[in-house]
Parts: sequence; C-alpha cells; structure tokens
Amino acid sequence: MKVLVINSGSSSLKFELVDMTNEKTLAKGICERIGIADPIFTYKNLVKGTKIDKQQVPMEDHSVAIDLVLKTLQDKENGVISGVDEIDAIGHRVVHGGEYYDDSVVVDDQVIKNLEEVAALAPLHNPANIMGIKVMRKLLPDKKNVVVFDTAFHQSMKPEAYMYALPYEDYKELKVRKYGFHGTSHKYVSETVAELLGKKDAKIIVCHLGNGASISAVKNGKVVDTSMGMTPLAGIMMGTRTGDTDPAAAFYVMEKRGLSLKEIDTRMNKKSGILGVYGKSSDFRDLEEGMEAGDERAKLAYDMFCYRVKLYIGAYAAAMDGVDAIAFTGGIGENGADPRETICEGLGYLGLKFDNAKNKERISGNVELSTPDSKVKVYKIETAEELVIARDTYRLTK
Ligand code: ADP
Repeated sequence: MKVLVINSGSSSLKFELVDMTNEKTLAKGICERIGIADPIFTYKNLVKGTKIDKQQVPMEDHSVAIDLVLKTLQDKENGVISGVDEIDAIGHRVVHGGEYYDDSVVVDDQVIKNLEEVAALAPLHNPANIMGIKVMRKLLPDKKNVVVFDTAFHQSMKPEAYMYALPYEDYKELKVRKYGFHGTSHKYVSETVAELLGKKDAKIIVCHLGNGASISAVKNGKVVDTSMGMTPLAGIMMGTRTGDTDPAAAFYVMEKRGLSLKEIDTRMNKKSGILGVYGKSSDFRDLEEGMEAGDERAKLAYDMFCYRVKLYIGAYAAAMDGVDAIAFTGGIGENGADPRETICEGLGYLGLKFDNAKNKERISGNVELSTPDSKVKVYKIETAEELVIARDTYRLTK
C-alpha cells in the first residue's frame, strides 16, 4: 500500500509518497511560489537517487501543482509508480481541527463543512489545506483522503489547561481556547521516547524547536498541556513569532504606532521572535554566527530563547508532578548542541545529569544525551511528521 502525503500551504505544496509495507519514502518534493511569479518545483526520487532541482515550472494554482506532482510520480525518467492506481490513499495535513477532532478522519462532505467552519480560527492555514483536499478529490475521485490535524493530539488537555480566563461566553460562542499545534510531532516524539524508556505511562516533555516551536507535557500518552494556544503565536519565542507576551503590550504598540489589527498581527507573527530581537535574521544558525561575531542583540535573542524553553520545562514538570524524560526535536532541537546545553544547564534539581560531551558529538538518529545515572533522561529525537500522517492514513483506510 502506498500513501501520498500532502501538506498544502497558501503558496506552497509539500508532498511525499510512502510505501507502507516498509514505511520507506519513495519520492518527495515541494512546489513553491504557486500562483505567484516564478514558481519552483523540487523533487527527489529516493529509490534511484535522481532529482529535479528547483526547476521553474508554471503553476498558476494548486490544481496545476498537484497535477504536476502526479505526473512526475508516474514519469518514465523520474517517477516511482507506473500509474495513479498504485496510490492507495492520500493523507493531508490540516492545521486546525477545532474541537471537532481528537483523531485523524476520513474525508467526506461533512468533514469539509466542519473544516470550513473551523477555518476562521486558522485563516492563514486551513483554507490552503482545504484547497489541497478539494483538488485531490477532484483529480482522483476514487481515492480515499484522510485528514491529520496538528491540533488533534492536544485534545486530551483538561479544561483547566485549555481555558483562557476570558468571559466564559467567548469560549462558548467563539470557541476561544488553547488548542495547541505540531501535534503530529509531539505524538511521534513522545511515543518514540516512551518506547526508548520502555515505559508506557512515562512523563515526557517534548521540545519541538524549529522555526515554529512548541513544548508539550505528555503523561501516559496524553497531552496534559502545550505551549501554543488558540493560534501558533503563543508559548516560547520563535523564529518570527513573539511567543507569550502581555496582550496589553500589543494594544499599546498598536496605539502608539497607529497600527491596524492586521498590521499588529503581522508584526507579532512575522517580524518578532528571533528576527525581531536580533534584527538580522530569524534563522538560528545565523543567530549563532551573529553571537560568535560578538553581536549583543544576537546574544540577547539566544538567551531569551533558551530561558523561555527552560521556564516551560519547569512548568511542565510541575504540571505532571515530575518528569521522566525531556526530548529535543525540530531543526534547532535536533541540530543545535549549544541551545540544548544552555537549556539543560541548571536542571540538576530535577535529577537531570546532562552529558555535555555526547551532546557535542554529531550522531544521527535518536540519541540519549543524559548520563546513565541521570534520573531524568534527555533525548534528541528526529521527528517524522510525514510518517505520522502516512501511518494514520494507512490505519484509517487499509
Ligand atoms: P520549520 O519546520 O518550523 O520551518 P525546522 O524544524 O526546519 O523549522 O527548523 C528550522 C530551524 O532550525 C532554523 O532556525 C535553523 O537555523 C535551525 N537549525 C538547522 N540546523 C541547525 C544547526 N546545526 N544548529 C542550530 N540550528 C539549526
């Protein structure tokens, strides 16, 4: 059985074809700048090792982009299948499932209706995700489509964790509450760690540190709390997002700078975080280079980032009455030895003993970064969001 994983954004579309008999990726790629000038297509055939590197191809909309993906997958030279019949089902990443879904779901008309209703909560993401599903249903009407939500894994949170202390009617009428995101990563990483620990009821803190970043507390396989909120703006500091900020600070900046709602939204989502404080880049590697060159704002942004992650680790150890393991994942979590060390410094009070030397070795795969006698284990785990989507699609359609 082969599953095509689609992650459809407003102007980009990532795809991956996975063979579920051995969970190997056969081909993957990305369509970028769909519907804007100079669209680019990148594709890798992982069976033969061939690739199409940043080719300029006209892609005026998602329908053209998906058609190109399907044609390339069947292409004589670069393809990995002889016909679309070999694709058994399609798994779609959808950012927001609202309160409707605590698990992935097979698409039907009602699901589309629910997603459209929830789109108000994720106006930047859900409409683009829905577009991908609609195009796929049109191009391959006989295939089953499955939706895998970023929010679903977090639906196990209790009201005291997900409610905001706003007037209750804002929750009842407007569905304003914490939902949490990156759920596929938090699920995969916490399950992997529970397996490594050989303990199903483990208390695990997952630090997904990428350009977007979030932390979750997972106890007995269920999310107790997570750092992102109603939207991905909340929680720790990110590449371009503020993370937790006094909302009144936003009102004040709006008033003083005469900004509209849309402008303050853009400022907090796209111009803040590491980019906002450092001023030169949102990329963590650039930040580390800046720091090495003696840039004080780079050092400040680095310190703020690590401090905030550490605060959440303390909070989530408290939320779970302890912690068995802390896992680092995402681009920064998997590759950034320095931030891992800075974050774990001073966590001895939890019973954590960090192995600084092992942390510096560049070992690929999943690696234990705590000493053998550490009460709290630390791991670097390579996340696999596409694989979770493929697995759920397989589970619901096989
Ligand atoms: P997203 O999926 O949210 O776009 P990623 O998980 O790909 O983000 O992470 C991107 C981040 O990872 C960037 O800030 C990048 O600089 C950082 N990163 C990648 N490699 C390293 C490294 N070797 N050291 C530190 N940070 C790294």
